[in-house]
Amino acid sequence: MTKTSLSHNVLGQVSRRSFIVGTGSIIATAALAGRAAAAIGDGAHVPVLVIGTGYGGSVAALRLAQAGVNVQMVEMGMAWDTPGTDGKIFANTKSPDYRSYWLRTRTKQPISNFLGFPIDKDIPKYTGILDAEEFSGIMVYQGRGVGGGSLVNGGMAVTPKRENFGAILPSVSADEMYGTYYPRANTELGVNNVDTAWWETVDCYQYARVGRKHAQRSGFAFTLVPNVYDMNYMKQESAGTVPKSAVDGEILYGNNYGKKSLQKTYLAKAKATGRVTISTLHRVTSVTPAGSSYSVVIEQLNTDGSVAATKTVLADKVFFAAGSVGTSKLLTKLKATGALPNLNGEIGKGWGDNGNVMVGRANHIWDPTGSVQTSIPTAGIDNWAAGGAFAEVAPLPTGIETWASFYLSITKNPNRAQFSWNPSTNTVDLNWQTAWKQAGIDMAKTIFDKINSTEGTIYRTDLFGAYKTWGDHLTYHPLGGVVLNKATDNYGRLAGYSGLYAIDGSLVPGNTSVNPFVTITALAERNIEKIIATDL
Ligand SMILES: Cc1cc2nc3c(=O)[nH]c(=O)nc-3n(C[C@H](O)[C@H](O)[C@H](O)COP(=O)(O)OP(=O)(O)OC[C@H]3O[C@@H](n4cnc5c(N)ncnc54)[C@H](O)[C@@H]3O)c2cc1C
Repeated sequence: MTKTSLSHNVLGQVSRRSFIVGTGSIIATAALAGRAAAAIGDGAHVPVLVIGTGYGGSVAALRLAQAGVNVQMVEMGMAWDTPGTDGKIFANTKSPDYRSYWLRTRTKQPISNFLGFPIDKDIPKYTGILDAEEFSGIMVYQGRGVGGGSLVNGGMAVTPKRENFGAILPSVSADEMYGTYYPRANTELGVNNVDTAWWETVDCYQYARVGRKHAQRSGFAFTLVPNVYDMNYMKQESAGTVPKSAVDGEILYGNNYGKKSLQKTYLAKAKATGRVTISTLHRVTSVTPAGSSYSVVIEQLNTDGSVAATKTVLADKVFFAAGSVGTSKLLTKLKATGALPNLNGEIGKGWGDNGNVMVGRANHIWDPTGSVQTSIPTAGIDNWAAGGAFAEVAPLPTGIETWASFYLSITKNPNRAQFSWNPSTNTVDLNWQTAWKQAGIDMAKTIFDKINSTEGTIYRTDLFGAYKTWGDHLTYHPLGGVVLNKATDNYGRLAGYSGLYAIDGSLVPGNTSVNPFVTITALAERNIEKIIATDL
């Protein structure tokens, strides 16, 4: 059987099965949308295989393709390039549906309650865009699909302060990063700044201006931060001249307009080289040496998560870009089960949550935050040096006035967890403890206790349960597990195997002091430049 006829057969099987097991015509239509256009065939031999299409994977694919190398990308999620029956590719945050969650039958919204009442609801099980992956002590939110986290995230594109860089990536030259790779990453990602005159008056950023007023009255530094959302588009949304996305509260489950996700930046450029192919709904489960190449086992998924086919391909070089959790889980399993026994003892170690904690504050009735709130944050409160916290002034786009200020804090939480293989369940566990979040809460409180005391306000207790103040059960920013210069050399080459690389958030040891994707992208730019110059 030729590769082409095999993949056609498999695709036929995918859509037929989805029609049978799906819960209706919406699912069936969407199953077709998730089909891989030119999926890799069983028995293929490729020069380079990249696992995952997030920031690290997209940088690797583009730069390798520009250097003349053919690249096969393998992505477990969907393509997200075809509208559903409502004419939109992505579901709205206010009405999650089958597209919203990765293989869940009920939503797992980060803000689980409103006025104390649970707001989660049943949905059909589907290979949706946001994975709420549960470990025993923490829920890790991640994007699934072509573009990885860039599909679901808030787009905050923050370069850390240079004075903090030594603690973020101690073995990397700050001169090189700030002179070359951060600027390169920001340019390629399409980072832009909000027009401050517009920001000062527009209704959809009233919540951010209230955030500024409260921060400054308590003496904290307030800073506007860049974003990858097209700020000119948002202006037009606000003026009512184009279809709304951010101003309609779209976030978490994708933005239908305006956001420059990786599909529109790195991946568009990579595809334009003609050297990059992406196989969607394909999940890598094993990588093991095979002569001078590697044998890679890939499961092709149906949109209900079941396995349609298992393929084995050969790759001369493999880049692990499955995200901090995805790469760490794979490599931890492959070392423990003997597929890659020569990986070193650092695999799985040094994982952190970027200190994420969430909290809401209840404002006075004379301090409304606005019924129209854009989902795209542009502001932060910086108390890193004194209190170990950088707080994003986040939206609460409910469509009604809530008198709430909401924040996602990044803190200097020092706790680090480890992944380990559990042979009795055949899964990878993470030993993060719920109580470890207290360090982050204490740092965030250096900002919000003070603001509450200045303003005479209190914390909201209705957003994460009944009478629960802190969103301390989750992270949006998983980092580490395959730490640079420990599990790999100083450029991401995995110890023990030539031709295997890690090139994503797994390299960053647990904290970036700000939102992480600009650092992940810049580090990938630095590492791939060296790898292309010396290994190819
Ligand atoms: C809700 C939310 C909001 C966020 N907001 C911001 C923000 O405003 N600013 C910021 O800087 N960061 C933000 N982040 C974090 C940011 O998105 C991540 O740090 C970033 O995406 C990580 O990049 P990465 O390259 O390491 O991996 P990812 O972007 O996670 O990409 C990994 C890809 O690999 C795929 N994959 C995993 N395992 C396999 C496998 N076995 N086989 C095949 N494919 C696989 C995944 O489906 C995914 O597409 C946010 C994250 C979330 C969830």
